Amino acid sequence: MIDSDALKAARRAVADACLVCRAVQRDTDSITGPLKDDRSPVTVADYASQAVVIHRLRESLGEVHCVGEEDADALRSPDAEGLRRAVVAAARLVWTDATEDEVLDAIDGGNDPGARESFWTLDPIDGTKGFLRGEQYAVSLAYIDGNVPTLGVLGCPNLPMDFSQPFDHPDAHGAIYVASRNYGLYEVPADEPSMPLRKAPTLGHQPGDTVRMCESVESGHSRHEHSAQIMEKLGVATESFRLDSQAKYAVVARGQADVYLRMPTRPGYREKIWDHAAGALCASEGGAVVTDITGAPLDFSKGPTLSDNRGIVCASPQIHGRIIRAIDELGFAQMGMD
Ligand code: AMP
Ligand code: MG
Repeated sequence: MIDSDALKAARRAVADACLVCRAVQRDTDSITGPLKDDRSPVTVADYASQAVVIHRLRESLGEVHCVGEEDADALRSPDAEGLRRAVVAAARLVWTDATEDEVLDAIDGGNDPGARESFWTLDPIDGTKGFLRGEQYAVSLAYIDGNVPTLGVLGCPNLPMDFSQPFDHPDAHGAIYVASRNYGLYEVPADEPSMPLRKAPTLGHQPGDTVRMCESVESGHSRHEHSAQIMEKLGVATESFRLDSQAKYAVVARGQADVYLRMPTRPGYREKIWDHAAGALCASEGGAVVTDITGAPLDFSKGPTLSDNRGIVCASPQIHGRIIRAIDELGFAQMGMD
């Protein structure tokens, strides 16, 4: 249900984490204090976001099983005092009375190994590189039941709802996408998360329309030359653009692109469940088809990785089959296997 207690808790958790990430991105100096390292803002925001999400889930739902990207091991080290203080300061922006122990404990609430009947999975900041560049990133939280995500909240603090705005310029409002399996896709501004949810736009792809493809900015995460060859093989007019994070799933879900391609860069890599669970549900509830590059459904029941899948093809139903065929004919489906 779109207004279940679990979904309400997840919305509040992600909305608060988005506020924290935005504040850290905007005002790094005051929060990170003595930290000098270039990577510190993202580290502070990663940890604080995970702490806030898990704390909010626990507040509303009691103890939860969560497979999160982060753990507090490094933060507990005596050398990490500066970082630890910065993380607690960032978490307190929304969790005002948090103590250091509570923050560390909440971060470690993401240590569940998964592979159980139902659990949450969290990427506190997906698209780290985008966060550092001041571009797109996402706070991604999903509930897995059986082997599929059934609830997903994807916070995209820099993603404009206005399609005329560019992706590489952070939007003042941002967007949060909310999906519940079989109940459709909804959106709300990230800076006004208590507004009523509204149905997300879904623009249908028509035969003859230009095929708009999106992919990672980072060539180390998705093989750009393979996606270019796939698009060429479709034999129609195409456009492509690049943005970080699961914001790509949102962009397809709301009809702003027709395809999100993630082509394997090396055989041994396994996609992480937290990099796809919320985004894939949002996209499928928006009407897209989401599979791996062989056309197989994503199986979230195998632990922290999608160990039985390689790469991602998320596309409108009119195009998905043609893309899978092109990948097969170009011999790329085998390349992700090992
Ligand atoms: P994106 O912003 O779409 O480029 O994806 C960011 C995510 O890529 C990160 O959260 C990483 O977990 C993931 N990642 C890291 N290395 C690889 C790789 N070799 N192939 C695919 N994804 C990767
Ligand atoms: Mg990630």
